[in-house]
Amino acid sequence: MGADAWAAGLRAGGPGVAAESRMSPRALRSLLRPLPFLLLLLLEAPGARAAGYETCPKVQPDMLNVHLVAHTHDDVGWLKTVDQYFYGIQNDIQHAGVQYILDSVVSALLAEPTRRFVYVEMAFFARWWFQQTNATQEVVRDLVRQGRLEFANGGWVMNDEAATHYGAIIDQMTLGLHFLEKTFGSDGRPRVAWHIDPFGHSREQASLFAQMGFDGFFFGRLDYQDKKTRKAMVEMEQVWRASTSLPPPAADLFTGVLPNMYNPPDELCWDSLCDDKPLVDDLRSPEYNADKLVNYFLQLAATQARFYRTKHTVMTMGSDFQYENANMWFKNLDKLIQLVNAQQANGSHVHVLYSTPTCYLWELNKANLTWSVKEDDFFPYADGAHKFWTGYFTSRPALKFYERRSYNFLQVCNQLEALVGPAANNGPYGSGDSAPLREAMAVLQHHDAVTGTSRQHVADDYARQLAEGWGPCEVLLSNALARLSGSKGDFTFCRGLNVSVCSLSQTAKRFIVTIYNPLGRKVAWMVRLPVTKGAYLVTDPNGTIVPNEVVIVPSSQIQDRPPELLFSASVPALGFSIYSVARVPDRSPQVYTRQPTINKPQTRVLTIQNKHIRATFDPNTGLLIKIENLDQKLLLPVRQAFYWYNASTGNKQSSQASGAYIFRPNQQKPLPVRHWAQIRLVKTALVQEVHQNFSAWCSQVIRLYPGQRHLELEWTVGPIPVVDGWGKEIISRFDTTLETDGRFYTDSNGREILERRRDYRPTWNLTQTEPVAGNYYPVNTRIYITDGNMQLTVLTDRSQGGSSLKDGSLELMVHRRLLKDDGRGVGEPLQEAGPEWNGPGLWVRGRHLVLLDTVRTAAAGHRLQAEKEVLAPQVVLAAGQGTPYHREAVQRKQFSALRRELPPAVHLLTLARWGPGTLLLRLEHQFAVGEDSGRNLSSPVTVDLRDLFSTFNITSLRETTLAANQLRKAASRLQWDTHTGLPPQATLPLLDPSAVTLQPMEIRTFLATVQWEQTSSRINLRTPFL
Ligand SMILES: [Zn+2]
Repeated sequence: MGADAWAAGLRAGGPGVAAESRMSPRALRSLLRPLPFLLLLLLEAPGARAAGYETCPKVQPDMLNVHLVAHTHDDVGWLKTVDQYFYGIQNDIQHAGVQYILDSVVSALLAEPTRRFVYVEMAFFARWWFQQTNATQEVVRDLVRQGRLEFANGGWVMNDEAATHYGAIIDQMTLGLHFLEKTFGSDGRPRVAWHIDPFGHSREQASLFAQMGFDGFFFGRLDYQDKKTRKAMVEMEQVWRASTSLPPPAADLFTGVLPNMYNPPDELCWDSLCDDKPLVDDLRSPEYNADKLVNYFLQLAATQARFYRTKHTVMTMGSDFQYENANMWFKNLDKLIQLVNAQQANGSHVHVLYSTPTCYLWELNKANLTWSVKEDDFFPYADGAHKFWTGYFTSRPALKFYERRSYNFLQVCNQLEALVGPAANNGPYGSGDSAPLREAMAVLQHHDAVTGTSRQHVADDYARQLAEGWGPCEVLLSNALARLSGSKGDFTFCRGLNVSVCSLSQTAKRFIVTIYNPLGRKVAWMVRLPVTKGAYLVTDPNGTIVPNEVVIVPSSQIQDRPPELLFSASVPALGFSIYSVARVPDRSPQVYTRQPTINKPQTRVLTIQNKHIRATFDPNTGLLIKIENLDQKLLLPVRQAFYWYNASTGNKQSSQASGAYIFRPNQQKPLPVRHWAQIRLVKTALVQEVHQNFSAWCSQVIRLYPGQRHLELEWTVGPIPVVDGWGKEIISRFDTTLETDGRFYTDSNGREILERRRDYRPTWNLTQTEPVAGNYYPVNTRIYITDGNMQLTVLTDRSQGGSSLKDGSLELMVHRRLLKDDGRGVGEPLQEAGPEWNGPGLWVRGRHLVLLDTVRTAAAGHRLQAEKEVLAPQVVLAAGQGTPYHREAVQRKQFSALRRELPPAVHLLTLARWGPGTLLLRLEHQFAVGEDSGRNLSSPVTVDLRDLFSTFNITSLRETTLAANQLRKAASRLQWDTHTGLPPQATLPLLDPSAVTLQPMEIRTFLATVQWEQTSSRINLRTPFL
């Protein structure tokens, strides 16, 4: 186990090899191709390099070249589970079997050397690959080397772009590209990113693709008004400048809109899943249609070419799960190519050929045109006037949280695997492994997984995959924590802490709490554990008693919540602190709770406050009405309440219903859940809370801890009642007096921020047809509004849809339950019955963190807090004190794997095992250019990597591109001339381990060869005590 951390979970994977020796002899041979051939290509396209393009087919420079791209789109779960799709099970739901597709395509490619095919989803391909004989693998290697089988994109899945966090996108792309690199070397390395189905496109995705070294990007779905404009302007292809911080061309990505989404032209679908007539070229046959089809094709090509700028155009010949009988497609395409090209003898200027996205891109690049530049994104996506795909930003909020929480846990698992080395994989608790959770998380990034747009049984299967991935990571954590602490505890992982469930803390009289902090800086963390009533003694790692409290938490009809034990823990950077908890029955509870359950109006003003923040509530309504930042002397009236949109089931204007994908309220104005809340105030030394009860299915705790600079709103919503026959979409809305001029701001995949303007798109004149849904945008981690001086930011704990529908207002959709399908193929209403089939419906709990700040200082607040949320400490419990790890083991209750903390601007994005003796390390500058003028956190920052980590020594360091599949110094990308001029080739920063400099928003990726310290006692000797 753990031989190769990034692929160990692949069934039947051979022993891993070190990254340096990944290149196969064949790959080496391909690098040593005869020089004249390479030179010829270089001469053909001055200024451009040919790497990866040598095998492209010949085109006709004076003709219109139609690139046929034979492809299949294989969803990693949607109507069927991943396994059902792979094996072709449950074909009554949908006829689809990926293993047969790959078998069939390989045979068809071997039958005719001019044929080409594109494959995308490594989750399927890797599984298929390991089931093949050596002989078949050899044949496939040949096809790849010759460019006849091409990989596009190459991620584990084709990830969604609206509900995904950038860290998880990078991880899933790295997993897929690493498999390709190991298996095929540079021959299998994709040059083109290919997101033909995701429902809108984020700017950050383009930036990440550029940083991974992709030369271009093609996609299928964009707003129908945008597409119409682009066709008219002949702007279907341009350069996307995807970062406002990274200097061009670092985040520039050539981007093309495919002409027909990702489908074949009408009448030309020759799959067993299609009904179009085959091409009949036998003149004697009464079914003869060759002439007609050839003429139709020539017309089609000419029409399509009008919307594109070069003498090249592309046709996607394939669709969902097609090519199970590849011969059908290829046989007809062979004939089409032959017959269409034969027309050249009659004066036709159309040349049709088998091609690939890479070869099409290569021709575009060689055209040497000057391209326009796009700087915004492709959200929201609408495929009709009342068809905005903005519902899936929120669909299945519980799965979305589980995914985000699993990202957090995977990073903890990765880090401990890297910090401890092989002893984490094999130890007293058995075999631990990060690979299963890494694979499960990669699958969850698929555009029908985290999006919430799969069938219910598939969503359940996604959750199962995550749950199964947690197990081997829990073993790994146990091995690692025992090793580092020198003590083997009886570790328990309370997976239900977010819903106040943990049997150990609720029953044991004494237990140990280990808190691991995955950040590069120490954190103070309020630990909350469900317990039984009574008094407790909590001691810190030094044996000092720390203040604690047992507080009541609001119960609901759904859940009777136990009281919770609170204490503040301090945890060092990339390390842990161990606290002891004991129940002391003699001591009376130090809990001070006031319970002025307010039903009637009272004149007293209700506030909760600490030294930084004061929140004021209206005693008449129980609602939050004001927030003050006491440090900055800022005051903002903020009224927060819950509302619901009545989901449309179709009306006279359009039959479109609100569903898993689509958001369509049947009226613009949302209805209040209730105008007032029943409230209860809890004030203790460790926490101040206002409990608001809006209805049987909607409640909230507004919370303030000492020293905290944000207000925490913990909402609980559900089961959403639908007995009235109305689907409901629930929002939390903040209404303020800020003059916001129709503008608001949302993050892009948790990284850079984009400005949004109500009823406006930056690149075309919008006709707004859905004033609510058409103004919704994805919120992955934060949304904010500002008047230029003051900024109100809300951080989320999962992806949600959000908007600002009137000035000063900001809303987030937290939950939705719908009774009709929205006609996008999933074929089920988004009911989410709950754990039982036919259950009452899911209830969901989440948190919004609210920050009020000046614009100058806001970024420091929300960047650092969002980092703490995404990489929150991991709490591990254990009954009893544990036994020594081994005889000489020194027990320790506090530990840091860093010899010095990282500066605030630096985020430790990845620390993971890569191969034997090799780690993957990513450092990120988490501030944008000019974002923070308060503490100057937007400046470049330098880190010394020598001796930074205390559990291993770095013996050599190589810098790679973002997905770690090529050395950065060897990587080159095609150049594209733009209207803003040809950007200079980026200069490579010198790799000096003692001074690794990060520019704003820069991520630097390294493969580090390391040596772990041998024993825990030696670690103890060499690690500075804290
Ligand atoms: Zn799809």
